[in-house]
Amino acid sequence: MTKQELKKYRTALEAKLAELGPIKQQITEIQITQIEPNDGATAMTVLLAISSADMNSSTRRYVVAALRRIEDGSYGTCLGCEEAIGKKRLDAVPWTPLCITCQGKNEKQDPELAKILHMP
Ligand SMILES: [Zn+2]
Repeated sequence: MTKQELKKYRTALEAKLAELGPIKQQITEIQITQIEPNDGATAMTVLLAISSADMNSSTRRYVVAALRRIEDGSYGTCLGCEEAIGKKRLDAVPWTPLCITCQGKNEKQDPELAKILHMP
């Protein structure tokens, strides 16, 4: 992978990280301002907000790990089989640690992974 490509992916990853925002703080604010006892609708809203925050924080872990792999030079290599991950795949999901074959195997065991590493 060229330096230019690495720079492109790093920029995409940093943008994603910024988009995810400060998750823990958001949850705390929701809990303080919105949880009312005996209010089913609000409780559901909070649950949804927390589950989407969990999702973001999982995604964040992948994004941060991908940035580390750029630093240590292993970015773009599948963690499952050590083959190069396809460029098209990295363009679509720059934080993916797995090639399409390994993701296919992992998705069956981990549905959350399928959502985080979703291919358009
Ligand atoms: Zn692989």
